[in-house]
Amino acid sequence: MRHAPNAPVLAPRGPELNTKGWPQETAYRLLMNNLEVAEDWKRLIVYGGRGKAARDWDSYFRIVEMLETLEDDETLVVQSGKPVAIWPTHEWAPRVLISNSMLVPHWSTLEHFNELEAKGLMVYGQMTAGSWCNIGSQGIVQGTYETFATLAKMKFGGTLKGRVTITGGLGMFSGIMPHCITLNGGVSIGVEVDPERIARRLDLGFVHEVLDDPDLALQRARECAKRGEARAFALHGNMSDVLNGYLENGVPFDIVTDQTSAHDMLEGYVPGGMTLAEALDLRQTDPATYIERARDTAVRQVRAMVEYQRRGAMVFDYGNNIRQEAYNHGYKDAFAFPGFVEAFIRPLFCEGRGPFRWICLSGEESDLRKTEEAALDEFGDDEVFANWVRLASEHQPIEGLPARLGYLGYGQRARFGRILNDMVRSGDLAGPVAMSRDHLDTGSVASPNRETEGMMDGSDAVADWPILNALLNTACGATYVAVHNGGGVGIGYATHAGLVVLADGTDLAERKIERCLNVDPGMGIVRHADAGYDLAKDAARRHGLRMPMLEA
Ligand code: NAD
Repeated sequence: MRHAPNAPVLAPRGPELNTKGWPQETAYRLLMNNLEVAEDWKRLIVYGGRGKAARDWDSYFRIVEMLETLEDDETLVVQSGKPVAIWPTHEWAPRVLISNSMLVPHWSTLEHFNELEAKGLMVYGQMTAGSWCNIGSQGIVQGTYETFATLAKMKFGGTLKGRVTITGGLGMFSGIMPHCITLNGGVSIGVEVDPERIARRLDLGFVHEVLDDPDLALQRARECAKRGEARAFALHGNMSDVLNGYLENGVPFDIVTDQTSAHDMLEGYVPGGMTLAEALDLRQTDPATYIERARDTAVRQVRAMVEYQRRGAMVFDYGNNIRQEAYNHGYKDAFAFPGFVEAFIRPLFCEGRGPFRWICLSGEESDLRKTEEAALDEFGDDEVFANWVRLASEHQPIEGLPARLGYLGYGQRARFGRILNDMVRSGDLAGPVAMSRDHLDTGSVASPNRETEGMMDGSDAVADWPILNALLNTACGATYVAVHNGGGVGIGYATHAGLVVLADGTDLAERKIERCLNVDPGMGIVRHADAGYDLAKDAARRHGLRMPMLEA
């Protein structure tokens, strides 16, 4: 068995290939980029509890070696983070096919997954961790920014100025919330158990001040809110304990949400009533008791969130499945507050809009700036997208290979993909560009407590859609394609798919881009139209999508 290298893994930059072609190089660089931006690269953990880039270091090095020698007409097969086969295919086939954490539905539980993981047979791929398309904290920034902007429009006259939000977790994605609240003009208290995570968010500038005392945090937050100053406070503590403490003292908040890693009651969520060191010790010595204590803590937390809703706060779940954990553990009112997709994002999904992203494989910041300009030239009249790209360009630190994310819809993605390919072809950019998206997208996920919560026709748990999405992207020539179980919300609670498509300036790439970047968001419109949403049916007609049952 090989072990973690001594120095952190960094993605290669520049024009030199380490592999036999840019499609292989794309997988190679983005796999390493995942570790470059990872929360805990030594353990191969990219984000979201134990979301990993590869099964173990031995598998990682084998994947790298295989990519270095992979031909243009071969496909590497990765099963739960381990390279298992290479097959002769053809130039239109993906260079890598990945399946992570998939279990036969009846056995698809965290307990069974833990047994298999302990035997070294599986890995938790999260969403973008095991599918090699993570771009660091930015990956969720726009979605979170949009969520709070929509909420501000719906409830607070268009701004969070003067409003105080409390949220849990300051990890890779949870640590983004305070930043997005600041961008929307509000004040936040982010409660986090792990001082190292707090220090990282402070370094990134996502939180501005660190406090240990809940009373002081509240006092400081209120002062800023009164002055209309946007500021993010990190409060060291356990979210459940802190929230219950505030509740007992009758402290009101405008918004209450949470993004601790509650989808994983063993490796993610930390039980209350003990120090972090005690919790980590218990995790090692007595995992069953740890899980029990974590579940009790989640119940107390969700009960407090429901009580905050009853007292008038805007309370929502931000996609970590904490309601389900509390429900499973006996708290039957856990779903009293809504999930964020149902509350804020679904109309976008109906139009095929979602978190599209592009990554400059050259590693040059100048490539990113040129592509941003091109995006603004093309989509300057798309107010939400254009505002976001300008804001991100100014405020979002570059993590790993330079990348940008923006919500683009059907038609826009393929158009932009062609523009990027032309820019590579003409030599305007220093290197090729990879395009991808979160699995949290319009047509690529079935997740009844998150993306498909409360579907109009009750089809929340129907998982045919993400599988069809992956099959279609494979058929259309994606550079690599992945299917996963459990991302975001935990094993057994979601099925989802991801893809990466390369713009390397070739004609072949252009044809693949055209197909993949239409099919991918297009299936989102189809999925929502099929569920009965008028917005999606209109979008399908407007874009001339062929849906036999709509034509009938
Ligand atoms: P992460 O593991 O990097 O961070 C989670 C943080 O929560 C950690 O820093 C951890 O120390 C802290 N934490 C755990 N229990 C706590 C407690 N009881 N009190 C205070 N802090 C606690 O994970 P992440 O990438 O930030 O993701 C967080 C959650 O959000 C996961 O469940 C993930 O699946 C989900 N997620 C949601 C979306 C979305 O779009 N809504 C996107 C990505 C991830």
